Amino acid sequence: KEESTHSQADVLIIGAGPSGLMAAYWMARYGINARIIDKRNTKVFLGHADGLRARTLELFDSMGFQHRVLQEGSTSTEANIWVPGPQGKLIRQAFINVARVDESPFLNTCLNQGRIERFILDSIREHSDLDVERGVIAESLEYDEELSNDPNSYPITVKVRVLGEDDSKVKDGCETTGNEVNREDLLPDDWADLAPRRKPQKTQIETIKAKYLIGCDGAHSWTRKQLNIPVEGSNTDHIWGVIDVIPLSDFPDVRRLSIVNSAAGTILVIPRERGLVRFYVPVQTCEAGTTDRFDRSTITPELIRERMQAIFAPFTFDFKESNWWTVYQVGQRIASQSTKGNRIFLAGDAVHTHSPKMGLGMNMSMQDGFNVGWKVALTVAGTLKPEVLETYASERHPLAEMLLELDRHWSPMFNDPKPEMADTKASDMALIAGKFEDFADGWKVFYPASSLVRRAEDDAEFAFARHMIPGERVRPAKLRNQADGGTVWTTRALESDGRFRILVLAGDMRDSMQKQRIEALGQALDGQSGSSISPFGRYLEIAGRFQCPIDVLTVHSSPWKDVEFFDFPEVLRPFDPVKGWAYDKIWCDEACIFDRYCDGTAYEKWGVDRARGALVVVRPDQYIGWVGELEDLEELTQYLDGILVKRSTDKVDLVL
Ligand code: FAD
Repeated sequence: KEESTHSQADVLIIGAGPSGLMAAYWMARYGINARIIDKRNTKVFLGHADGLRARTLELFDSMGFQHRVLQEGSTSTEANIWVPGPQGKLIRQAFINVARVDESPFLNTCLNQGRIERFILDSIREHSDLDVERGVIAESLEYDEELSNDPNSYPITVKVRVLGEDDSKVKDGCETTGNEVNREDLLPDDWADLAPRRKPQKTQIETIKAKYLIGCDGAHSWTRKQLNIPVEGSNTDHIWGVIDVIPLSDFPDVRRLSIVNSAAGTILVIPRERGLVRFYVPVQTCEAGTTDRFDRSTITPELIRERMQAIFAPFTFDFKESNWWTVYQVGQRIASQSTKGNRIFLAGDAVHTHSPKMGLGMNMSMQDGFNVGWKVALTVAGTLKPEVLETYASERHPLAEMLLELDRHWSPMFNDPKPEMADTKASDMALIAGKFEDFADGWKVFYPASSLVRRAEDDAEFAFARHMIPGERVRPAKLRNQADGGTVWTTRALESDGRFRILVLAGDMRDSMQKQRIEALGQALDGQSGSSISPFGRYLEIAGRFQCPIDVLTVHSSPWKDVEFFDFPEVLRPFDPVKGWAYDKIWCDEACIFDRYCDGTAYEKWGVDRARGALVVVRPDQYIGWVGELEDLEELTQYLDGILVKRSTDKVDLVL
């Protein structure tokens, strides 16, 4: 009989891919007693996913490491479509502008998954000592539903095994192709992770009791199988080769995002960091509707090279250096549910798989992990009401369904190499691209009404903040700091530090009536007006992190010279005896000459009256939860009462 140790964790995350790491980020930010395990003995280093959508980059900015992506990644500004011309030679037929500068400060960027994982891991370490336990596999799962109503119970039991050196060598679809990882392929901050690292364990087997479990264990999700959650969908008939190389070619767009439709097939060209380019190449078609996996041993880099040369002809194409390649069959599948009793959650590829050519798998997976992570962590901290956890499935599952629907329409464009379809394909692509970009880039997420999203009964209700739509993101704008004149994007100012944020859009403070409104708001917020509705001090703290789960940020619309920092009520710019005044709390929406992105259009972007302003609650994940007028503090408090746990004592000091 094998010896086993026993332990308890408030949250157990299975899988340290993009979705698991995003969930772990929140555990670190909230200081939760969490564990994260992965059966691989190292992180991903090369290849895998590489496309980062602008919305994901906005989240990275709120997490504090977007600048690293900007330094290392390769941005995509337009997608070019190549088709056979009159003489059969490939011609550039169209290009689709994929850079929506009016929507986001960030452009879609390509950078390999290993670097993304690096940045999230570093961020986790900045905030806690949570570390991925590698070479550890989950082997059995029991869930006692009867205990699930007691928030302090541990209804989940997972037995994990520490794998031997050989067992934990990666055997996922991508690595069976035998890609070698060399130190010279990596940046120095990844070197230490090359050697398999594992926590010393007393025994090979450990039984972990957990309050919550987040299964981020990929397309073949072990957690999903244990819960008998069925998946709908199947493999598609197309087998693709994917290869990252330094191209030697006279094809003019080899360093631009391009789709090449020639008589010999379709290639997707994706420029990458450090001179690399990724190519998606069709290599084989299975019998239609087949569900069996194909024999991947028949596909080699040589065969992929030959296919590419045939498709690019008469342009020349070759490579000497390739640092990663794989071959895969696209599966379009969705799990029928993404939670069990709101105690166990599935995120990322465990819920949805589809063609990687849309560049959405990693993005959607990370956004799943981001969504479930803060909710589970804040519930464990005791600050969020457990019923709010229902919103993970209601917000993310419909998006997974939309994703699969889009994939079914989009991927045939890449799959069918018939030349006579080339013209139609190009125009169809432009049409579909236009339609799906809003969704794919994350400008629209369509989170429905819930305790977390207070939607208006009709549009007229929120006419004073037309583009601040609950359930959507705050449209990024660049603001100027009242105290020092420096500028910042709202994506950074609304830092994902774990707190809800009341955004006071103070309007034009030069107007005496408006100034009075702000003073009245200030009195109500700090409880001076005799009302008991101040949200500060009303809700449970986030133990060890914040005494109040709510922060406040003010943006006014007057020229900065006409108002002073001290014109704002103290509750909006609190004083700390050691750190002094909170100069980073008051911002101004005014154009400034040294930064052309700071153009004084934030109120316009948000559809807010520059004179009267508005009040907005932004959730920890940067989505809008509630919108009201400056006087609507009672409604705001009702909203927060619906989701946050109140303190038991009536009188608590105000601490921001
Ligand atoms: P995974 O990344 O699969 O991570 C799951 C983890 O769980 C793994 O590390 C695994 O070892 C671990 N695990 C599994 N079972 C257990 C167990 N029982 N115990 C312990 N650990 C376990 N997406 C994009 O957005 N853009 C792209 O450009 C893109 N390109 C792609 C290109 C290719 C070639 C491929 C294959 C995929 C691409 N994707 C892309 C998709 C993207 O890689 C996935 O959607 C993403 O990695 C999913 O993240 P995840 O964390 O949900 O799962």
